Amino acid sequence: SGVFGEIEVAPRDPILGLNAAFKEDKSPKKVNLGVGAYRTEDGKPLVLPVVRKVEQKMLDLGFDKEYIPQSGLPEFQKVSPLLLFGKDSPAIKENRLACLQTLSGTGALRVGCEFVQKFLPKGTTVYVPNPTWGNHYSVIESAGLKAGKYRYLNKDTMKVDIDGLLEDVNNAPDHSVILLHVCAHNPTGVDPTKDDWKKIAEVIKKKNHLTFFDSAYQGFASGDLDKDAFSVRLFVDQGLELMAAQSYAKNFGLYGERIGAISFVCKDAKKAEAILSQVNRIIRAMYSSPPLHGARIVALTLGDDSLLSEWKKDLEGMANRIIEMRTALLEGLQKKKTPSPTKDGTWKHVVEQIGMFSFTGLDNAQVKRLIDEHHIYLTSDGRISMAGINPSNVEYIVNAIDEVVR
Ligand code: PLP
Repeated sequence: SGVFGEIEVAPRDPILGLNAAFKEDKSPKKVNLGVGAYRTEDGKPLVLPVVRKVEQKMLDLGFDKEYIPQSGLPEFQKVSPLLLFGKDSPAIKENRLACLQTLSGTGALRVGCEFVQKFLPKGTTVYVPNPTWGNHYSVIESAGLKAGKYRYLNKDTMKVDIDGLLEDVNNAPDHSVILLHVCAHNPTGVDPTKDDWKKIAEVIKKKNHLTFFDSAYQGFASGDLDKDAFSVRLFVDQGLELMAAQSYAKNFGLYGERIGAISFVCKDAKKAEAILSQVNRIIRAMYSSPPLHGARIVALTLGDDSLLSEWKKDLEGMANRIIEMRTALLEGLQKKKTPSPTKDGTWKHVVEQIGMFSFTGLDNAQVKRLIDEHHIYLTSDGRISMAGINPSNVEYIVNAIDEVVR
């Protein structure tokens, strides 16, 4: 068996496997609604105009390619928390927020879990919503932590099951870690209301849980960066200490550049300084230091008022195109009187859900038929990426959905 011993081929990642199957499909009609990346009206990947402009500026200025510190590019570390927490955040003003650059959102989650594993009591469980982004489980478990679930979606109403959620968070042992999606919950596209968020903050406070926010879609949900950060800012206002992972993959279109951040909101500046130094050591041992190029793009953009407003326009453009496609999909299904798989018998959830995804309610067998008979690729839970829909394919998609639900 050689020095490596017996090694079996790992199971395919469900989402990456879907992309591979899409690539192999020879049909000219094929549509990819699986991938969580923005596509233009022509179905092409997009480099944001502001990003191209900043990159040109960077070339002109002749920046070097030296290593950056473990904790990241200092200008980036300064602006990233301002975006999520707001420039008037008490945590920033009181110097009790530590922010480190990470390898996109996944890296932030991984570093945060490593911190929990090292510094919180043994056996600490990280609770995630059911359902959640599938990789949460792998990230939590690969740091040696246990993953637990709390109820999230009420499939009958296609709304947050707030009573179930509160009950489960309340029943988790004191001092657990509760992972919350900041906005545009993946895969459901359904978020708690403002009132729900207040109740969630209350129970977390009562139970002395540690909140771990995951922000992968800020600005992408409503098109408004501040609105999308409501939950995080509320928790800080409530005096809670917390961790927050930020990703610049979707909102800056920097997917492959791997730019993200982890912030720790602490009770005082001394604690923030200590945590920063400890997380520096974690990063040093894991991958030494994060990438420079994309961090500079984000830092230059967020640090300049005129570039910042250009970015906001780019972001709004993406968010609006997605919102338009929600309407187009709903209208198409209504026109055909396509039976809805949800209890209320309508397709309204398609326009009520926010962010990149729609949780259609289609079941496993219907999804399989969409893939096998119609060359439309989506995850088996019935989640579709709205970014994969455009004016040229929406009618084809409507007809295919109509056909598989009848
Ligand atoms: N968290 C959620 C909920 C996501 O949907 C994603 C990406 O799809 C991520 C985190 C991390 O993405 P990345 O590592 O590309 O920033």
